[in-house]
Amino acid sequence: MTERVFNFSAGPATMPTEVLAKAQAELLSLQGIGMSVMEISHRSEIFEKINHDAQRGIKDLLGLPNNYQVLFLQGGATFQFLMIPMNFLQADERAAANYVVTGTWGVKAAAEARRCGTARTIFSTAESGFKSVPAQSELRFNPDATYVHFTSNETIEGIEFKYDLDGGGIPVICDASSNILSKPIDVEKYSLIYAGAQKNLGPSGVTVVIIRDDLLAKVNSNLPSMLSYQSFAKHNSMLNTPNTWGIYLINFVCEWIKEKGGLVAMQTINETKARVLYDALDASSFYRGHADSEARSTMNVTFRLPTEELEKKFCADALEIGLDGLKGHRSVGGIRASIYNAFPLAGVEKLVEFMREFERQNG
Ligand code: PMP
Repeated sequence: MTERVFNFSAGPATMPTEVLAKAQAELLSLQGIGMSVMEISHRSEIFEKINHDAQRGIKDLLGLPNNYQVLFLQGGATFQFLMIPMNFLQADERAAANYVVTGTWGVKAAAEARRCGTARTIFSTAESGFKSVPAQSELRFNPDATYVHFTSNETIEGIEFKYDLDGGGIPVICDASSNILSKPIDVEKYSLIYAGAQKNLGPSGVTVVIIRDDLLAKVNSNLPSMLSYQSFAKHNSMLNTPNTWGIYLINFVCEWIKEKGGLVAMQTINETKARVLYDALDASSFYRGHADSEARSTMNVTFRLPTEELEKKFCADALEIGLDGLKGHRSVGGIRASIYNAFPLAGVEKLVEFMREFERQNG
């Protein structure tokens, strides 16, 4: 097959075709040097510039002030679940963190933090099945909390915060793996933002950490260097060999977003795509959306069909017409359509058309 399918995978996820073509064009010879980006030293001038440009790309798109650093780490977002408490909870045994849990990833982040120090889940929607997000006014943080952690978009359940959580003076740490760079945010509300790259930024194997200097200064100084944000910041993410290929592609993805009009433009197109799909769910009693309407994710649209057999058939039939990756996460089942920045509107329209036809035949 040479034609591309519409790939609804939650991550690794669809990449902008322009970015893939650009990487392909210089795969054998990066900028005419006769070697690919995967074959050159990470200490070479040419890669130093790529590293710098990728950091700059993220800084420019988010409008980050100078007191924020952008780091490229490894180990995925999951590694951040432990790196955060190692850096900020272990130096002082009286320190405690607050976790706001609105889905599966938040549960995992809190569980890892409890292995490293004192972490309290101060709010959770687990009992109501992870369908909603709290209003800011519902959140009461421990006044002496070291940090507050939340997940801005829960990828598995399709639950998204529509506001920038305010820590009221407590540093806010956000897992933005599945909605980073999908819309403008008020960055100064955040002390640390992290994201595995494989949804909205590039390929898997690189994790972006955006950290403000005042939080960076509080890092536990007794950590081994590979666990310390300070050592990565000091070495400009080159403490050891970074994921050069991943950073190279992140740089292209940032350029692509900029060319499309930046985060405001991303938000407009993302909201349009999500509306087309949610309108189709609302117009049907055959499909049942998972999320409460005010918490619906613009990135991961989750829904059920009347039976699991129908869900299986739905995915199989969809695949036949080039709609791939619609199966929900194995932990919750159902259908999940992930429609990140690079996912085209035409694919959403084709899915909706398919959904109508599937309901007509099986409803
Ligand atoms: N947090 C969120 C919100 C995620 O969606 C994911 C991956 N789907 C993770 C964390 C874990 O990411 P990784 O596989 O990069 O460790």
